[in-house]
Amino acid sequence: MGEGVLIVGGGQAAAQLIASLRQGGHEGPITLVSEEGAVPYQRPPLSKQYLSGQFDRRRLLLRQPEYYQSRGVELLLGRRVVSIDRRQKRATLDTGGEIRYDRLVLATGSSLRRLEVPGGDLSGIHYLRSLNDSSRLRAELAAGRRIVVVGGGYIGLEVAATATRMGAAVTVLEALPRVMSRVVSAEVANWVADLHRQSGVRIHTGAQVRGFAGENRVEGVETTGGSFPADAVVVGIGVLPSSSLARECGLREDNGVCADEYCRTEDESVLAAGDCARAVNTLLGTAIRLESVQNAVDHGQVAASVILGNPKAYSGAPWFWSDQYQAKLQIAGVAAPDDETVLRGNPGDGAFAAFRLRNGRLSAVEAISSPREFMAGKKLIAAQVSPDPNLLADASVPLKELLPS
Ligand code: ADP
Repeated sequence: MGEGVLIVGGGQAAAQLIASLRQGGHEGPITLVSEEGAVPYQRPPLSKQYLSGQFDRRRLLLRQPEYYQSRGVELLLGRRVVSIDRRQKRATLDTGGEIRYDRLVLATGSSLRRLEVPGGDLSGIHYLRSLNDSSRLRAELAAGRRIVVVGGGYIGLEVAATATRMGAAVTVLEALPRVMSRVVSAEVANWVADLHRQSGVRIHTGAQVRGFAGENRVEGVETTGGSFPADAVVVGIGVLPSSSLARECGLREDNGVCADEYCRTEDESVLAAGDCARAVNTLLGTAIRLESVQNAVDHGQVAASVILGNPKAYSGAPWFWSDQYQAKLQIAGVAAPDDETVLRGNPGDGAFAAFRLRNGRLSAVEAISSPREFMAGKKLIAAQVSPDPNLLADASVPLKELLPS
């Protein structure tokens, strides 16, 4: 019959795991417990095409509900696992029911960081993580509405771009001296900020939110630098790994559930995948926690390979993307803030790439509407090259010439 697999969490990692298990011939029972009411869906459109109304709900689903039924996957939606007994290999649900497992996969994702300031509970203040969050926010976006976005990261800027396109008047309040500083170089961050400004978005950096004004509904945002009137607010200040279940059952947890390059925790019956996991990546030579579709997909495949008895290590170069207005930002690799930056192409042309180097070694590429540089950069990162910065910067030198022969 095969091992019984219990998956906690119903996001991209869970969906991939299920697909890879059944494709790989796993015949044992699979049970998915997800606190969300929907089968696994794509999150990236929640700040873009779904938010703007371009995509409907069905289009978001990674697989339609019939898929799970036809593959014999038991779905427990709208349910939570509240505790895990690793000795008995048993999980308890919020309903009191118990599920036995041979393999448990924690794919619990991440949860939103909240802005704990006075007025933080007023209506009209939105966070964006789930399909329902996006539907509620969509109802607020209309021409002429004043939308204040707190946080100039991926979520904040994607929402700013979508809301602007829908005719809203958008202000972004970012705490740090520049937007997107967690993820990109100053050059790319400045280019993205300029793109927003040209589209009419006001960006205030170094903004410390003190609180929200309003009686029942939010009317404004108070910062150390002034007040901003708002018809609605969106807060996108990052996420935290959802690893409390792991911690409570005694598994190691340190900015995510600790896992090796096979997504295995120290308990051979328990794996961790996706946003909640800090697994070793053999290419990077370190454990890393990432919030990306690709990381969730890779982890889902790795976890499945272990359960199928043919383990494949997690070794791919991480990559990310963000669409804002007509620009497509694609990032491969992971750069540290003080990594050197080498530009290829001219930011003024609307398409260029920033290559990041750490001690001479290529750590990341940040490509603006430059898919070829992104693809080539990804290969160079996987080949662990230390390219000559002058050649990287010279757009007449094909990037493939920098690959080891
Ligand atoms: P997300 O996935 O929510 O976009 P990121 O980490 O990409 O997460 O971006 C979050 C952004 O929010 C960062 O640029 C960070 O500096 C900013 N930020 C964090 N806390 C605050 C705050 N209290 N006020 C304004 N901006 C904040």
